[in-house]
Amino acid sequence: MSEEDFSRVCSKIDEEKEFLNSVSQKIWNNPELAYKEEQAHETLTSALTRCGFKVQKHYLLPTAFKAEYTSKPGGGPVVAVLLEYDALPNIGHACGHNLIAEAGLAASLGVKAAMEADPKLTGKLVVLGTPAEEGGGGKIDLLNMGAFNEIDVAMMVHPSMFTSTFPPILSRLSINVDFKGREAHAAAFPWEGRNALDAAVAAYQNIGLLRQQVKPTCRIHAIITKGGVSTNVIPAESRLELYARAETQSDLTELTDCITKCVESGATSARCTASIEYKHEYHYLNLVSNKIMGITYDYYAQKLG
Ligand SMILES: [Zn+2]
Repeated sequence: MSEEDFSRVCSKIDEEKEFLNSVSQKIWNNPELAYKEEQAHETLTSALTRCGFKVQKHYLLPTAFKAEYTSKPGGGPVVAVLLEYDALPNIGHACGHNLIAEAGLAASLGVKAAMEADPKLTGKLVVLGTPAEEGGGGKIDLLNMGAFNEIDVAMMVHPSMFTSTFPPILSRLSINVDFKGREAHAAAFPWEGRNALDAAVAAYQNIGLLRQQVKPTCRIHAIITKGGVSTNVIPAESRLELYARAETQSDLTELTDCITKCVESGATSARCTASIEYKHEYHYLNLVSNKIMGITYDYYAQKLG
């Protein structure tokens, strides 16, 4: 990209800054959960249509979309800009996915303007709306359905407290555990019970102890989402939900094995059973960043100050 192209990108974004902010504000003020981002889908597809992109609404998924701009001279790479726009339950856009949508839209408008003005910039720009990134794995669904087949490189920005061009995005597996015990009156016959909450707490503590023996790049975060219904009754059921994350797939496999042992021993100690569900269908692999794109991004980001 020449310096001229760069200034075209910047002036287009400056020109559209109020419009871009209004799109972001609209999504921010109307947070929608994973796979239910109907209004964000509408807002963004309308914005892209208005800006001259060829838009496919409801692309492969009800709240996904694809918009395209192809240069007049043929050839060149297919570059995708990814937009996210879902929110979190109860707290809205805490992660700032409205900003991912705004920044992606801004980049798309800027690059399209530069491609229109400079015949040397050949290729296809794809703007992909990827729902359900606060849980659900929208990109995994899209990947499995072939949305990335024609794409050579994909890029996205995510808001953060600091700038990181090569963020260590870890491989992640979601694991749910259901412990089963036996109900009993907690005062009259506690010895008859098998306390499933104890099993979950023991597993949770085992995982806490495991942390010292894992690589600093590993992450384990767990919550207990079910732990009994009445203080007078020994809980017969409990549930532990967790994410395991690691820098590589092989580290994650090893970590998952350790977590499994923590869970099983928690269940054993409370004489309960544990049913473990590994949610492989929404298993995110670690991100592999493109070095050239990262360095180029840094160069232009620093130029902007
Ligand atoms: Zn996020």
